[in-house]
Amino acid sequence: MSNEKIWLSSPHMGGKEQEFINEAFKQNWVAPLGPNVNGFEEDIKKYLFNDSSPSGGGREGDSGEVVALSSGTAALHLALIQLGVERGDEVLCQSMTFAASANPIVYLGAIPVFIDSEEETLNICPEELERAIEDRIAKGKKPKAIIAVHLYGTPYKVDEVNQVASTYGIPVIEDSAEALGSSYKGQKCGSFGEFSILSFNGNKIITTSGGGALVTKSQKAKERTIFLATQARDAAPYYQHSEIGYNYRLSNVSAGIGRGQMLVLDDRVAARRAMHEFYVDLFNDIEGVEVHSVPDNDYFSNHWLSVIRVNEKQTGGINREKLRLFLEENNIESRPLWKPMHMQPVFKDSPYYGKGVAEALFENGLCLPSGSNLSDKDRDRISRAVMECFKK
Ligand SMILES: *Cc1c(COP(=O)(O)O)cnc(C)c1O
Repeated sequence: MSNEKIWLSSPHMGGKEQEFINEAFKQNWVAPLGPNVNGFEEDIKKYLFNDSSPSGGGREGDSGEVVALSSGTAALHLALIQLGVERGDEVLCQSMTFAASANPIVYLGAIPVFIDSEEETLNICPEELERAIEDRIAKGKKPKAIIAVHLYGTPYKVDEVNQVASTYGIPVIEDSAEALGSSYKGQKCGSFGEFSILSFNGNKIITTSGGGALVTKSQKAKERTIFLATQARDAAPYYQHSEIGYNYRLSNVSAGIGRGQMLVLDDRVAARRAMHEFYVDLFNDIEGVEVHSVPDNDYFSNHWLSVIRVNEKQTGGINREKLRLFLEENNIESRPLWKPMHMQPVFKDSPYYGKGVAEALFENGLCLPSGSNLSDKDRDRISRAVMECFKK
């Protein structure tokens, strides 16, 4: 019997990607920019703001523009720049996330201030967020921006976070890198922030092999983003620069992959959600393991990764790490949740506001194989390995 590795999340092509790439080669658009870049941006814009797919389109009156970039990290960097973040400024950031959410703060010489999660969505806790803002203001500095993340595809508490943000007049950068295809109260994730970012890295719900996008509120912000992403050239026949620029645009070849992937995005979301259902069933009878799900019907998750929490006291001694190692022996990849940023050596000096939720999640949380390309045979292997682990 074959025992090939079952991955946490691997690229899953739809079939049409090659056609868009061939088109680019035929027209010699093997350069940054080109028809695939424009087409890909249009596809995403349509998906976020006026789409009729199962997770709902944008709310009426909502609109935005999309700029395809070389990565989600680049998109965060350009969002922070456009919000005026400079050396010595403070930026509030969800602690339970991937380091890419926080690194661009440091690129600008600014200081990340990390915020704990709440239990329901595992994302930024609105109460701790407010406590942090009041305390930073009392200490003499009002934070410049809030980075909130839809972790593993589950929307953060959008209304509550926006309420706090607007009370203090601080803009929100929505890190939707893991949440393309998710929605909150019928509005797509990636459309909520003053700026929103998407990622098309190889492990995300759809991929361009590497890439990202910045979603802006206006055409003007879109143009500014493109200006910064293409080396900040002044309008002159020669190369003149009055500002520092970046080389952050997506290539026309990569965008071709993206166009092909957009055709199958809804299928990918359905498949990831089915994996989540599979785990709900699988762990239904296993005491001490909880499959993380959305709090209520306001939240629609793409379930990019399925997450469980293991309570050692109730499982009879099986903890997260024992399960992870057991799966590994069976050539099944699983991974602890993101190690919170305030626990990272590189961010040890950054302020943190919390009460232990993120630490506990890191301690007992595990991400399970969630790819849209997993087969019945893979699910069968996972199922048998899990049963065996908890039988002992
Ligand atoms: C993947 C990811 C990013 C960064 O995206 P890249 O395209 O890999 O640069 C940012 N934030 C979160 C939460 C992510 O998961």
